[in-house]
Amino acid sequence: MRIVIAGGGTAGWMAAAALARFFRNGADIRLVESEAIGTVGVGEATIPQIRLFNDNLGIDEHDFVRQTQATFKLGIDFVDWVEPGSRYFHGFGSLGRGLGILPFYQFWLRYRQEGGALDLSEFAVNSLAARENRFGTLPSHVNGQPTGLGYAFHFDASLYARFLRRIAEVNGVRRTEGRIGSVAVNGTTGFIEALAMESGERIDGDLFLDCSGFRGLLIEQTLASGFEDWSGYLPCDRALAVPCAPAEPLTPYTRSTARKAGWQWRIGLQHRTGNGHVYCSDHMSDEEAAETLLGGLDGEPLAPLNPLRFRAGKRRQAWKKNCVALGLAGGFLEPLESTSIHLIQSAIARLLLLFPTRGFDEADIAEFNAQTDFEWESVRDFIVLHYRLNRRDGEFWRRCREMELPESLAHKIELFRSNGRIVRFNQELFNEISWLQVMYGQGLTPRAYHPLADQLSEEELASLIGSASRQSRREADLLPLHSEYIRAHCAAG
Ligand SMILES: Cc1cc2nc3c(=O)[nH]c(=O)nc-3n(C[C@H](O)[C@H](O)[C@H](O)COP(=O)(O)OP(=O)(O)OC[C@H]3O[C@@H](n4cnc5c(N)ncnc54)[C@H](O)[C@@H]3O)c2cc1C
Repeated sequence: MRIVIAGGGTAGWMAAAALARFFRNGADIRLVESEAIGTVGVGEATIPQIRLFNDNLGIDEHDFVRQTQATFKLGIDFVDWVEPGSRYFHGFGSLGRGLGILPFYQFWLRYRQEGGALDLSEFAVNSLAARENRFGTLPSHVNGQPTGLGYAFHFDASLYARFLRRIAEVNGVRRTEGRIGSVAVNGTTGFIEALAMESGERIDGDLFLDCSGFRGLLIEQTLASGFEDWSGYLPCDRALAVPCAPAEPLTPYTRSTARKAGWQWRIGLQHRTGNGHVYCSDHMSDEEAAETLLGGLDGEPLAPLNPLRFRAGKRRQAWKKNCVALGLAGGFLEPLESTSIHLIQSAIARLLLLFPTRGFDEADIAEFNAQTDFEWESVRDFIVLHYRLNRRDGEFWRRCREMELPESLAHKIELFRSNGRIVRFNQELFNEISWLQVMYGQGLTPRAYHPLADQLSEEELASLIGSASRQSRREADLLPLHSEYIRAHCAAG
């Protein structure tokens, strides 16, 4: 099977490195990229699943952190999202320990309804450690109980692509530098046959991966897959990104601060701090967006502003004929929960599981597209949730509050509002703990809790709550400062 990858951004090199690793014998993999066109150059925050991807490639974690100027990420600090002055943390990792069939948070809901003071964050080692800028690894058990730390990374996206490129090339991927001029399609089957380079070279293939970024050179410009527009749910359509000088302390989390018509990210890397302002052009001019961003930096800007335009949504068919779209070629969801790189990762995993055999079976393609649609829709819902549950002033925020919700999300909100129930549909990406932290964090308080939580006596409830908060505190106390951990294990030269 000749595999041709069009594009060498994060998507292209992730695909190249993974396919070369899994098809060690016999795959013919080529990647085409153009330095003149370049990459989108942003995409610095991730979620914990990326550790699986790196593990599968045999990557040593500390080596990876060193080479990509990375830092560790325990979650996201949401500032001013409910209203100015509000704050909550969406942490990875676990939150208390359940009892019987009930998750811990059902007991905590009862505890709160009975006047208990401890906030959700007191039961999550991630939240406690983030508050104190700590990071490290923990043994599997502390005080006889399983530990609950979860983490991901922040990294320099261009260094990550370079890092993966080395792995891919060592494993036999052939890279071609240059611009794709046109795409040759078979007049009978409609399948892509080759990329015609501006240099005159023709690159033939059997399977084509479109990793060409927003332009979707193969999946859209050639095969006209179509675009499902979600800007009605997610109206932000522009971003400005700028790095600034690094600042102390080195924070082990992403910060997301709500602004007048969008939000601003802050991501501490080893060599710089990444910043960006995602906004809606219906409600804010580019000049005002730039002013807001530059006014909110905590160091000198290190480069000119990088403007980006996008539309939320996805391709109608991520896999069409013999072409699979990955990364921005497949669609865009704003980086509020740092999900784009994960969507690349899971699309690669899906492709590997449903890899075409002799022909391109319509059943495989349909399955791939159905799974992709489900995953994208569930991530979309999770992102929309943040906007929906706001109490902020201003036209943009009112618009978000009043928008018509996807039915799937309206159902989730109602389930939680009534009895604090959270249902994870079909192994969707974000688990109950994530939904809980954001729903509760955004100010949605359930009217009741699960009746089984009343099975505990008051003393038993107090003991469960007390031991859970002591356990998370104990775990957090074992962790060094994030900056110390990096200095000791994986400082980038
Ligand atoms: C503002 C913003 C913030 C983001 N933040 C995050 C984040 O925190 N976390 C996260 O997970 N994701 C984030 N993302 C998404 C993330 O940046 C992308 O998912 C990731 O970079 C993948 O991009 P890509 O490889 O699909 O496209 P690109 O980086 O655009 O790469 C496209 C490639 O195609 C090549 N190409 C295009 N046309 C041609 C041609 N004609 N001939 C030859 N080569 C061609 C280019 O040279 C390039 O190599 C963010 C995105 C934006 C816009």
